[in-house]
Amino acid sequence: MAKQIAHAERAHALLSASASNRWLACPPSARLEEQFEDKGSTYAAEGTLAHEIAELRLRKYFVEPMAKSTFTRRLNKMKKNELFQQEMLKHTESYLDYLKELTLGMEVSPYVAVEKKVDFSTYVPEGFGTADCIIIGGNTLYVNDFKYGKGVPVSAEDNPQMKLYALGAYAAYSFLYPISKVHLSIVQPRLDNVSEYELPLEDLLKWGEEIKPVAQKAFKGDGEYVPGEHCKFCKAKATCRARMEQYSTLDDFKQMKPPLISNEEVGQALEKAKHLESWVRALKEYALKESLKGNEIAGWKAVEGRGSRNYVDQDKAFQHLKAHGIKEALLYERVPLTVPKLEKELGKKEYRELLEEPGLVQKSPGKPTLAPATDKRQAITNEVSATEDFS
Ligand code: SF4
Repeated sequence: MAKQIAHAERAHALLSASASNRWLACPPSARLEEQFEDKGSTYAAEGTLAHEIAELRLRKYFVEPMAKSTFTRRLNKMKKNELFQQEMLKHTESYLDYLKELTLGMEVSPYVAVEKKVDFSTYVPEGFGTADCIIIGGNTLYVNDFKYGKGVPVSAEDNPQMKLYALGAYAAYSFLYPISKVHLSIVQPRLDNVSEYELPLEDLLKWGEEIKPVAQKAFKGDGEYVPGEHCKFCKAKATCRARMEQYSTLDDFKQMKPPLISNEEVGQALEKAKHLESWVRALKEYALKESLKGNEIAGWKAVEGRGSRNYVDQDKAFQHLKAHGIKEALLYERVPLTVPKLEKELGKKEYRELLEEPGLVQKSPGKPTLAPATDKRQAITNEVSATEDFS
């Protein structure tokens, strides 16, 4: 059997596909990040384990017929990992279900590669990565990505990480298969999100040519530092000067006259302040770490936060209280599950049959909220409010 690639052992390229949205927007960030330690998080380790379970499922179904006992033995070994959660089984299965459906209608049995190392160094210096699942059916190259996180839904539309994997996969298979279309998909079962995007091969190759000079700059550490949304996961997010300077230029507005700012200036200020909150959070985390190390941050220090009280032994404490006449009803709260939580517990089908169809659930529109002009939702005003729109 082909040895499974443990995600934990995946090597990282300087210009990795997963960080491409960052180095494409801010080319020198990749070299700047080199001086920071690479600390893995528990979330990342959790994702690694979920990927390993998914890989086992995919191999069994697509790549190598496997005896049930072999599958169970391998899965049981993964279940012993302290990060294992029962829900990983459900989520990896829905990822496999998605891929099964994708391949079901194909006329000829597709080619499937799981955990495929792809080389996109023709476009990005020393660029390589590992694609979760590559499928070639007819003239279409399918690049599929499984994301276990439950942070934010990620769109496959024009997604640079996916396009780099696709460029690498095309380089590997173009001699064997007549590929003319590329289908990208991101599956995030914990968010109930599947995002798909299709583009002609020539558009992909054109994009590859366009990013070549940017990737060259990024590799050399040249170009401008450009702050933005992509700073969120940059290792330099707290101490990057360019990031700080974008906020200090908010002072420019003081020079403006008359004393009240216009609606246009309101828009400009909001645009600049968009990532202020996450920047301040990053600064605080950094300053706390430095203070705890004994390094001075001018005007700030680390102190002990508010503590909490916990039972030494909850069962013993409650028994003691009951023995002293305290009623059980006083010790527990009964809280009804919210509609989204109940839907998760029941599953979509049962939820629909038991609650939605008999009309036991009502949807109410959300409160008006401010969003950037690029948001996909329709703009509303007091005249055409969300309530009327809904009804
Ligand atoms: S924090 Fe933002 S601006 Fe600074 S290097 Fe990182 S991505 Fe670039």
